[in-house]
Amino acid sequence: MKAKDYRSGLEPVWCTGCGDYGVLKGLTQALADLSIPPERLAIISGIGCSSRLPGYTNSYAFNSIHGRALPIASGLKLSRPEITTVVVGGDGDGFSIGLGHIPHAVRRNVNLTYAVLDNGLYGLTKGQSSPTSTEDFKQERGLAGPEERPLNPILLVLSSGCGFVARTHAGNLPHLRETFREAIAYPGFAFIHVLAGCVTYQGPAYADTIYKRCDILPADYDPSNFARAIELARGERFALGVLYRRPPEAPTAVVPGDLPSSAGIWPPVPSNGPDVAPEDLSAGDMG
Ligand code: SF4
Repeated sequence: MKAKDYRSGLEPVWCTGCGDYGVLKGLTQALADLSIPPERLAIISGIGCSSRLPGYTNSYAFNSIHGRALPIASGLKLSRPEITTVVVGGDGDGFSIGLGHIPHAVRRNVNLTYAVLDNGLYGLTKGQSSPTSTEDFKQERGLAGPEERPLNPILLVLSSGCGFVARTHAGNLPHLRETFREAIAYPGFAFIHVLAGCVTYQGPAYADTIYKRCDILPADYDPSNFARAIELARGERFALGVLYRRPPEAPTAVVPGDLPSSAGIWPPVPSNGPDVAPEDLSAGDMG
């Protein structure tokens, strides 16, 4: 199989230069690498620019309703476990209306790959701020204000007990391909945070600016080190790679001993008070 064998005949309608093109390419390359038969593949999405992606693939596909891709994909996978199931969507779809589904999908540990294509805004509805918009986001439309602090996707899924947590960038095709390959091959719920630019509402330089803040994890990085993954998730820079991978046979629930006391996000709070002020946990701009 080749990457083109996983493409439908539909031409994407994304804006020229949109990061979603790279994700489509990296995903189809990874599917070809894994030789997954298209008739044993389903790609499920919610609503948004990136949620158009299933229509461009040669697989079973469902462009569902806003924020509801995870429960639909979970039902599919539970009833047809032989179908490789990939979920894609944006930061607005996943972290706003769909947020409540993430920790439950994680704790059920259904064997899905969930990729959130995070461009820090709602592109389909013309550029309003999303839960991951940076604090300096300039908003011309919509109701939510940019003074809201951004949500930290990696911390969110790590603290929910996710067994596979990775980050990649839509402009780095080899890295995208490898990350999708590893996530799809992981036998459990796998989360990928994809930093993706929106050329139309963030401007063409945005993805480049974000990319300059990215560091690819070194070859000797130990992804089984949960405490280190938490540290990286809280950092100012964006670590790219598999930040955390729990051995599949290990328990799925996060236990207090997994977390460094400095993470400050697991009860019980020490009697002398938390090490980290609550405001630190929203972790700055997308980081
Ligand atoms: Fe991509 Fe932004 Fe255009 Fe949507 S509006 S297709 S996210 S560039």
